[in-house]
Amino acid sequence: MTTSFDNAAQVVTPPEPNLPYLRANRAGELHLDPGGITVGEDGRIAMLEPTSNANIHVDATGCALLPGLVDCHTHLPFAGWRAQEYDMKVTGVPYEQIAKAGGGIASSARALRETPDDGVLSQARGLAGEMLEHGTTTFECKSGYGLSREGELRSLKLATELGRSVEQPTTRTALLAHAIPTGYTADAWMDEVEAMIPEAAEYATALDIFVESIAFGLEHLDRMGELADKNHLLLRAHVEQFSTMRSVPVALRHNARSLDHLSAIHPDDITPLGASTTAAVLLPGAEFMGVEATAPARALIDAGAIVVLATDANPGTSPIFSLPLIVGLAVRKYGLSAREALLAVTLNAAYVLDLSSELGSIEPGKRADLVLLDAPAEHVAYRLGHNPVAAAFVAGEPIHVRPDAAWRITRR
Ligand SMILES: [Zn+2]
Repeated sequence: MTTSFDNAAQVVTPPEPNLPYLRANRAGELHLDPGGITVGEDGRIAMLEPTSNANIHVDATGCALLPGLVDCHTHLPFAGWRAQEYDMKVTGVPYEQIAKAGGGIASSARALRETPDDGVLSQARGLAGEMLEHGTTTFECKSGYGLSREGELRSLKLATELGRSVEQPTTRTALLAHAIPTGYTADAWMDEVEAMIPEAAEYATALDIFVESIAFGLEHLDRMGELADKNHLLLRAHVEQFSTMRSVPVALRHNARSLDHLSAIHPDDITPLGASTTAAVLLPGAEFMGVEATAPARALIDAGAIVVLATDANPGTSPIFSLPLIVGLAVRKYGLSAREALLAVTLNAAYVLDLSSELGSIEPGKRADLVLLDAPAEHVAYRLGHNPVAAAFVAGEPIHVRPDAAWRITRR
């Protein structure tokens, strides 16, 4: 089965082949030219031009053809929601009072513990479907609401199960140091973490830690870095979200794959991060919903950083699952160009998940994970709140087609 995408108004392609990532200060080199592509029998991009005799033709007239969107930072799977907590937060109830009323990460940990596997999975599958409708063709799952050895490993197993039963490929990150479980010191919990890593590594490709005044410190980040190295896992970290902790130099010493949040990054840490191969994952949804400080995205771009955008989809600080919405927020809040934002949710996001040799850009040989927009690419940010995704493809197969776009796909 071959597929030809014909007559697109824009096909988004990288400036050169085989790039593992593209530093954001080169985003202007992305091509957005009219044209088409051909996908071969193997589900991979065969060439950057259409074919007249393909089995399936996709009429892309007026549309932009993008690499499938990659959401490299979500907290799926989780159980339930925290809407009441949000209501308290926006009306000015202090966090201490919300925590006392049983809110926060502890609340999601309790919900996860009390929800049977089927319940967790059916909620997560529904959300994966929603993400697909918004163009996410690959996403990351995290543990982190287990807060016990059994809970964390169950969470990773559920994430693995989720990956088997949704349309999109997924990856798993073991966020084993998310909050300090009751009855532990941070140091004692890190001993538990070390003991569970061999088992966690059967499911996950990365380790993650929340470095914050109310969570883990720099010495724990340092230890997690050593553990990642020893177990051949990627190091990722939630850092500089609320407080300036100076996590960046520590994480760079361990060659972290990504540092996520960075809303409160110290100005002196921007240049070294920009020069490194550690991606800067910015989460404008969490910043918007939490009225947090704004990450210095333009300074990071000027410093040459590998800038990435993600949803941080979770029931507490960012119950947002749409990457087009995230792109819209990022463009407005950070002053990103359309190209900078698209790069940040495709090739560079794939790099964070160590998948950029397989997907994340439209080039011959890569898997044909594609998104067809109902408009030019610049509309993604501009029509904030509109879902521009007309169809999504994984390995060339249409796995989501919006009803009003069904006419575009014809089989011969
Ligand atoms: Zn997060």
